[in-house]
Amino acid sequence: MSEDVDKARLDRRELLGLGAGAVLAAGLTGGLADAASAEARRPRSRKPARGPVPRFADRQVDKLVVETVHGPVKGADIPFAMGHEHVFGDLHRVGKVGQPWDPAYMDVDWADVTAKGVETVRAVRDQGVGLWVDWTPWGVGRSVQMTRDVARQTGMKMVVPTGIYKDFAPPEFTGMTINEMAERFYRELMYGCDGLPVRAGFIKIAITDEKGPNKAETRIHRAAARAARRAGATIAAHAPFVDATMRLVRILEHEGFDLQRFVWGHPRAAVDAHIKLAKKGATIAYDEISINPGFWGEDTSDEAIIDRIQRLVDAGLGDRVMATTDDCVVMVPQNYERDCTHLHRTFAPKLRARLGEQTANMILRDNVIWAFRRGSHVR
Ligand SMILES: [Zn+2]
Repeated sequence: MSEDVDKARLDRRELLGLGAGAVLAAGLTGGLADAASAEARRPRSRKPARGPVPRFADRQVDKLVVETVHGPVKGADIPFAMGHEHVFGDLHRVGKVGQPWDPAYMDVDWADVTAKGVETVRAVRDQGVGLWVDWTPWGVGRSVQMTRDVARQTGMKMVVPTGIYKDFAPPEFTGMTINEMAERFYRELMYGCDGLPVRAGFIKIAITDEKGPNKAETRIHRAAARAARRAGATIAAHAPFVDATMRLVRILEHEGFDLQRFVWGHPRAAVDAHIKLAKKGATIAYDEISINPGFWGEDTSDEAIIDRIQRLVDAGLGDRVMATTDDCVVMVPQNYERDCTHLHRTFAPKLRARLGEQTANMILRDNVIWAFRRGSHVR
């Protein structure tokens, strides 16, 4: 199916519901965009089928299931959980979608990567962490086989994502329609990845620019929303810009995606925006712990992060926030300075001292299990 056919199949009211900016971002121009601009104030035609946001007491986290590289695991069998980490990342990608990739991509000594991954994952396992949610999707070095090997050697329960980072779509995605991409994501959530009986636990997406998702990213995001909606699965986004994240959210919601399945990764220190999305059910991932200043030059000291968490807790949204480091044990071509062992060695005692044992445990465990619970249509 060609892209034109794919566009033509969109219901016109759906396009109008997007609003003019998003329509343009989606690469749709001419008469349709003009019409959308004129009618942008019309009510959306396709709202997510959203129930009330369940609160902490109703979530029954112990009974939830997380899909790991070694199959489904019950919440009751998970001690602490880290919601955004990486064993391996590869940023060798060159050029735009459809252009050739650097032949160095994922050409590494996998025995060495595995050994380093085992050493670090074992260290956090020894600190009481039982679940490692890995955020390396297609295009930035996902190796399901290596992750499963690390999980097997350490006893850590590990989750891998499907999805695409920014617009780093793998070469075989060239020319795919949105629905074809959605089908690829969906099949990884339902059946398995890379020819293995290992299902992805969620969909990872990302945005590059503070202006909002670019055209290629928008197509990926729409595909992610369609797949997530069909599987009832979680979408986690690398989204460091507030306005751009709101645009992303509008695209996802327009596709019928419910924010109760959304994890906002790399949120800048704009807590009002975090509260706004948390009220709609999103989970906020404070994932720059262990470095200071953070990637964007902000104060990411333990105390500053705990201040942000406390604001969410004070707003009654303590069940919508997680603390994690976004460490990457091995990153090529350049290394990446984070320390996932900092979370339980240094950060967690400070979190407990400020917010108490019960709230700290909710943030360091329950909220992660909740956010990454298996897709509601995955059996
Ligand atoms: Zn990350």
